[in-house]
Amino acid sequence: MITLKEFKDKYIGKMIESGIESAAFDFNYILQEVSGISKTDIIINPDKTLTEEQTKCLSTVFERYIKGEPLQYILGYTWFMNNKFSVAPGVLIPRSDTEVVCEKAISYLNNFKKPSVIDMCTGSGCIGLSIASACPSASVYLCDISPVAMEISCENSSSLGLSSRVKILKGDLFKALDSLKTSQKYQMIISNPPYISREIIKLLDSRVRDHEPILALDGGIDGLDFYRKIISEASLYLKNDGMLIFETGYDQTEAVASLMEESGFYKDIERFKDYGGNYRGVSGIYKGDSQ
Ligand code: GLN
Repeated sequence: MITLKEFKDKYIGKMIESGIESAAFDFNYILQEVSGISKTDIIINPDKTLTEEQTKCLSTVFERYIKGEPLQYILGYTWFMNNKFSVAPGVLIPRSDTEVVCEKAISYLNNFKKPSVIDMCTGSGCIGLSIASACPSASVYLCDISPVAMEISCENSSSLGLSSRVKILKGDLFKALDSLKTSQKYQMIISNPPYISREIIKLLDSRVRDHEPILALDGGIDGLDFYRKIISEASLYLKNDGMLIFETGYDQTEAVASLMEESGFYKDIERFKDYGGNYRGVSGIYKGDSQ
């Protein structure tokens, strides 16, 4: 039997040893999530013992975390825009930086009665499903080429009770829409595509590089491949005044805004920042057929 205090000292020690900088914070978060024990519980009852089952379960989680697996994959979920999303290796872990992109999208969609939205490269579905959850009249199409993304986004759509307004489509970018067999136009195309350049992938933190799917990260030599492809086709699918909105890396915003400008299809092009003050995305409004 191990006491709370002994368990804490053991694992914070191991985490520090393995170079985890935020060891104390991570320890408290994991303990709370996995066993419901708070840091205050340890202060009040340091000599309380963990049950055998708690010790086994917590030790497994901490050992995996110390070996470098992302916590969200170990737990099988994460939080995004106040909703719980299942995640698994094979889909990118939703990042809080992406929330600003969703918020901007939602505020535009609030101007329309029954907007239809494409979330291109949906992964876990976090963007499209957050939009569906915040805009109760929206229909949302989640597109991805990855079978794991299909599975996880479907699971998230049903656990959030959104399946009646959400369709999940498999295919390479806009080819995913072929199965709909309609020439419907959409109020918004939103995407957080793979945008890491080849050079930078090598330099990513190992918790990301060795565990998150390369397919969801790799944006080609300069990281802009998917923006080019999406921008070249998006206008065919947007309504007049439809919005094309992207998440971008902090240093890609200008390049993506230029690609949108050069295409000649978009007006009101805006670059926007996340809550950390870094550039995070670009949006533009389709000028329409009458341009
Ligand atoms: N849309 C998902 C997200 O924002 C996945 C993005 C991706 O796979 N590049 O997390």
